[in-house]
Amino acid sequence: MHLLRTPAELSEWTETARRQGRRVGLVPTMGFLHRGHTSLMEASHERADLTAVSIFVNPTQFGPNEDLARYPRDLEGDLHKCREVKVDAVFTPEAGAMYPSGHRTFVEVTKLEDGLCGGRRPGHFRGVATVVTQLFALARPHVAVFGEKDWQQLQIVRRLAVDLHLGVEVVGMPIVREADGLAMSSRNAYLSGPERTRALALSRGLQAARARWAAGERGAPALCDAVRGELRAGEVREDYVELVDPSTLEPLERADRGDARLLVAGFVGKTRLIDNTAIGC
Ligand code: AMP
Repeated sequence: MHLLRTPAELSEWTETARRQGRRVGLVPTMGFLHRGHTSLMEASHERADLTAVSIFVNPTQFGPNEDLARYPRDLEGDLHKCREVKVDAVFTPEAGAMYPSGHRTFVEVTKLEDGLCGGRRPGHFRGVATVVTQLFALARPHVAVFGEKDWQQLQIVRRLAVDLHLGVEVVGMPIVREADGLAMSSRNAYLSGPERTRALALSRGLQAARARWAAGERGAPALCDAVRGELRAGEVREDYVELVDPSTLEPLERADRGDARLLVAGFVGKTRLIDNTAIGC
């Protein structure tokens, strides 16, 4: 497994691969890897000859009062997991190499970044879109794999890849969950034992909404209230619960077309968690 520490090393490595006629897959992450991340690496293996993983806690996607400084990190453990799933190269740049002094260029995906997490975390998706564009420019991957766990991010990345003619196929993979339903997340490491139990309210809420849909309910308010009921029971403070069009992310009043997405964000203590599900299929 190649360890690539600078942007130049990443471009050189992928350039060599491309010259040899090999398809390159890229999996961007912020590290503290879990099975959600490794499922993306495996998906990349199926679609590309060589897979590169980036591990970079991107400062521009964190707000001033967010958890950049304490975001969990474990590079040695991460490299071990990458070796286990036979990743070909890992890119671990310094922030100063991605954003050298004088950096002035940001990427904004209008509209898609306005609501949901973007509405509650101003500037977050500008940071995400910028770093993903940088990674695509450096690696020029044929395929890039992202998780549906970050549904809004996935739609934003799909859009920017098309709009900027980057020629990369963006693949979304299903949410990997713990046995009890909790969506895997690096931020789950923040949870105390009791908080970990309360955090189940998010996935339970989504399940409750799906059950309401299966029983005939189609209205967004009732479906969202099903989620809220579980959040209250788990003492999870709602950040948002919304039913939206899966790709435009526009709010929906009803879920009768068979393609709606229900998204939830909430605080368990100080930890902000997100989850989402398809409704109506
Ligand atoms: P992160 O390290 O949190 O920035 O996530 C890196 C990538 O892994 C993103 O594309 C996430 O959507 C994806 N991811 C995170 N958690 C999960 C999960 N539980 N299941 C599937 N993909 C995930």
